[in-house]
Amino acid sequence: MKFIKCKELKDKNTDLKFGRNFTDYMFMMTYHDGEWDYRNACIKPYEPFVLDPSTSVFHYGQAVFEGLKAYKNDKGEVRIFRSMDNMNRMLESCWRVCIPAFDTEVVHNALVELVKLEKDWIPTAEGTSLYIRPFIIATDPALGVHAAKNYILAIILSPVGAYYAHGFDPVSLYVEEHYKRACKGGTGHHKVAVNYAASILASEEAAKRGYDQTLWLDAQENKYMEEVGSMNIFFVINGVVVTPALGGSILPGITRRSTVELLMSRGYKVEERKVSVDEVINASLDGSLTEIFGTGTAAVVSPVGKFGYKGRDYVVGDGNMGKITKYVYDELTGIQTGKKPDEFGWVERLV
Ligand SMILES: *Cc1c(COP(=O)(O)O)cnc(C)c1O
Repeated sequence: MKFIKCKELKDKNTDLKFGRNFTDYMFMMTYHDGEWDYRNACIKPYEPFVLDPSTSVFHYGQAVFEGLKAYKNDKGEVRIFRSMDNMNRMLESCWRVCIPAFDTEVVHNALVELVKLEKDWIPTAEGTSLYIRPFIIATDPALGVHAAKNYILAIILSPVGAYYAHGFDPVSLYVEEHYKRACKGGTGHHKVAVNYAASILASEEAAKRGYDQTLWLDAQENKYMEEVGSMNIFFVINGVVVTPALGGSILPGITRRSTVELLMSRGYKVEERKVSVDEVINASLDGSLTEIFGTGTAAVVSPVGKFGYKGRDYVVGDGNMGKITKYVYDELTGIQTGKKPDEFGWVERLV
């Protein structure tokens, strides 16, 4: 096997657009004849899939994915963050769309081996990392809506910089009143492909109005904050950190959980509960809303500078990154890169 490296890309290290560049190798495993084929699972050169036009995933979207990151510091040490949580969440996503369960240990080991093999691709500049994308697609070459009998599980790697085009500048959110991302009993609690197709129209419309992302409201009452496109959401009101409780329609983010655990352990007041748009607007108007931030693997922590609702804009704090937002960012990225001690046992050092 040839081992060609894209030297130019690796040396550039910064200005890596999210999800555009991929490393030389990928992991691949198939499911057929009633079982995952662990014996033929392999790490092989990154290459296209050749699939029949009738392949089920193209038509019915039976697919799940995950997203996590590997970080490399100046000393060349490589770490991944809470990766078994991603494996377990992927297993739960599989359950929701009838994809057969896989051995999380086997896939986790494959992920570790792949990252180690590709460690030279991990950028080291501030805010950069190697994004890891495990995913599963249904590959039956046949039409008809039912659970497929064939699947591909693959892992691909992408060196990335900051998630948003304008780096760590605060983002703006559009509170979406009309379209819904998820409802109780639906698939919003799981990282399944269909959720994202369903959210694109609202994203496009928010972008046309000049906002970076959609802030979703609950489907039942249309008044409670749920989350952002690929991030969970936090509000700081009267010094208390508040995040919407997971109620079946919110994606249980690993960064969300880490943020809650981190802030609680450091003595912050944290509440997981319902948060209505009215509460946040009133807090913005009376000055008690000091910060809003999103959390997710891709962006880690993203400050929110303003949000729009029913044609009006509300500024958050002074429009700049807030103190708690900065604290969570520094602490989480510190732990992830090995700059700060990992008192929670969240990181796994690979190299
Ligand atoms: C992946 C994702 C998140 C963030 O989850 P992390 O585990 O923190 O990366 C939040 N919301 C949605 C809709 C997501 O898909």
